[in-house]
Amino acid sequence: MQALVLEKKGELSLRDFAVATTLGPQDVRIKTHTVGICGSDVHYYTHGKIGHFVVREPMILGHEASGTVVETGSEVTNLTPGDRVCMEPGIPDFTSRASKLGIYNVDPAVRFWATPPIHGCLTPEVIHPAAFTYKLPDTVSFAEGAMVEPFAIGMQAALRARIQPGDIAVVTGAGPIGMMVALAALAGGCAKVIVADLAQPKLDIIGAYDGIETVNIRNRPAAEAVAEATDGWGADVVFECSGAAPAILGVDKLARPGGAVVLVGMPVEPVPVDIVGLQAKELRVETVFRYANVYDRAIALIASGKVDLKPLISDTLPFADSIAAFDRAVEARETDVKLQIVMPD
Ligand SMILES: [Zn+2]
Repeated sequence: MQALVLEKKGELSLRDFAVATTLGPQDVRIKTHTVGICGSDVHYYTHGKIGHFVVREPMILGHEASGTVVETGSEVTNLTPGDRVCMEPGIPDFTSRASKLGIYNVDPAVRFWATPPIHGCLTPEVIHPAAFTYKLPDTVSFAEGAMVEPFAIGMQAALRARIQPGDIAVVTGAGPIGMMVALAALAGGCAKVIVADLAQPKLDIIGAYDGIETVNIRNRPAAEAVAEATDGWGADVVFECSGAAPAILGVDKLARPGGAVVLVGMPVEPVPVDIVGLQAKELRVETVFRYANVYDRAIALIASGKVDLKPLISDTLPFADSIAAFDRAVEARETDVKLQIVMPD
């Protein structure tokens, strides 16, 4: 089977690649349809590693996928061939302590697509546990199905925030994840979400949604915009999605007394935090690592029309042009949010 293979740092190839094809009794075989390119895929391509995850052997990229079930294992009852689905890419050890607690995203044994040494899904066919494969309603396209994975991070952040109806939130960083978080926060009950970034094209894209205001921090400090929107009180929830040191150092200035700070962005290096600034407002600090138990909710919101992710799909490229698609993702154009790859029929 052809696959998009990261041979090593900086080198991609589209070539035949043998992967395990044994269908377990609780697995499904899926013909992949659409796969989104994620910042993590790009980072493995450009840097060869993320933290202590190092690419040591050729690895298939991709983890944001939708497709069609073509075969089901003997014990699978929730899916049948022909079902359109999306896949949750992290497979925990079902018997682990973390899984039993419902926090399988932080199971030390989790096997996550395109995180070395686990292969991703940029290949025409994958085998996946049925328990982590979700049926798409007729109204949700394959393209939207492949957006469920990044949106799931927004969902996890919104849940961690414990949003109350009418909250005002601020999101620092208008990358794809910042946008997902902003939309999940609105869907979760926020009256208004202020998104701060310094790239105007990104702010224009997310600012087109109802309920979202933007502030370009090149022109104006985020704290000033938040103060104006909240009569000087501060935001109920601060979602830090940039991973940038100055933004992290400043989260307390954006929050109201007793508010919450949700750390979503991942700084490449350790960054300083103003502990006293957090303490002086008794801010509740939450962290997010991937997601658990949010796929059903994410799909339901998309199907309901309350969350429309289609404007965030910037371009769709054929599998044969995968390498060009990745090179475009490396460019990080300010007008690109999500690039997707469509597999051949
Ligand atoms: Zn992703």
